[in-house]
Amino acid sequence: MNFDNIFDKFKGYADIALDKMGKASKTAASKTENVVSRAKIRFSINEANDKIDEIYRLMGKELYERYLEGDMDDPVLSEQCEKIDGLNKDIEELNDELTDLRAVVKCQYCGVYNRIESTFCSKCGAKLAKDEEEVEAEAEVFDAEDEAFEVTED
Ligand SMILES: [Zn+2]
Repeated sequence: MNFDNIFDKFKGYADIALDKMGKASKTAASKTENVVSRAKIRFSINEANDKIDEIYRLMGKELYERYLEGDMDDPVLSEQCEKIDGLNKDIEELNDELTDLRAVVKCQYCGVYNRIESTFCSKCGAKLAKDEEEVEAEAEVFDAEDEAFEVTED
């Protein structure tokens, strides 16, 4: 086999690949067309990878369901499912923590948010109003501007 044959063969593979990507003309592709083709190919590759990831995700969910139903005898997969159990527990605890943090009361003098169980403001020491309605209203404000406020520790 001489070099021309090798080149022709390689070019043939490249053409097949381009045809698959829906490219009509490819032999005299300009630099711009080449860049566009590469972008299209990369896009298709990314799209295929996304689909694979989605299938993996669905497979994982399916397997986890089976594990929950006690229908899992593979030790490696069981171990992964136990990790999910642990993470779900973490999420539950974090959600509880979030709920606790949302139960806050705003100091009517300095505006600092304090934990609901506090009697006095952690910043200025003023007695905190514990009227239930007031607390609820303040909690809503806190929700809306969640990131802007920091609950100070007692
Ligand atoms: Zn205060």
